[in-house]
Amino acid sequence: MAREIVLWPHKVLNSATKPVTEFGPPLEKLLAEMAEAMQEAKGIGIAANQVGESLRVALVGREDGTFFEIVNPQILERSGKVTLEEGCLSIPNEWEKVPRNEKVKVRYQDRTGQWHEVEAEGKLAHVFQHEIDHLDGQVFVEHLSSLKRSLIQERMKKLQKALKRQKD
Ligand SMILES: [Zn+2]
Repeated sequence: MAREIVLWPHKVLNSATKPVTEFGPPLEKLLAEMAEAMQEAKGIGIAANQVGESLRVALVGREDGTFFEIVNPQILERSGKVTLEEGCLSIPNEWEKVPRNEKVKVRYQDRTGQWHEVEAEGKLAHVFQHEIDHLDGQVFVEHLSSLKRSLIQERMKKLQKALKRQKD
């Protein structure tokens, strides 16, 4: 069974993740579990803290269904502004327009520890920023007005209660 996705609000989603220092089978296992959880939930990206692991690892989906595995990513350059609709696996059924940079240049390590640089724009750039935000302990609703955020938080509390009742 795939790993369960942590729902917001939750401490692990609002804490900065730790850098990865060991490249090997435990990291490969985590990447496989994250891919499974993301695909099962039909997401286009996922961060390790969304499956409860506070590590600087994320998957960033391309339009064609393939994805980048990014370890210890940093945004080197940002430019332009564009507002696109976003959702999040940790905040189900909520879609909001989020302003972000139109283009980003990201440096990251792959599963073997080798460094890469990639330039992304448009939707892909949004996914990179959304996932790297997660690794810094931020979810997308923190880019919204406090009114919108508190309405979403109310709906999430109800959802979490309903899910808990199902389990009990
Ligand atoms: Zn998310």
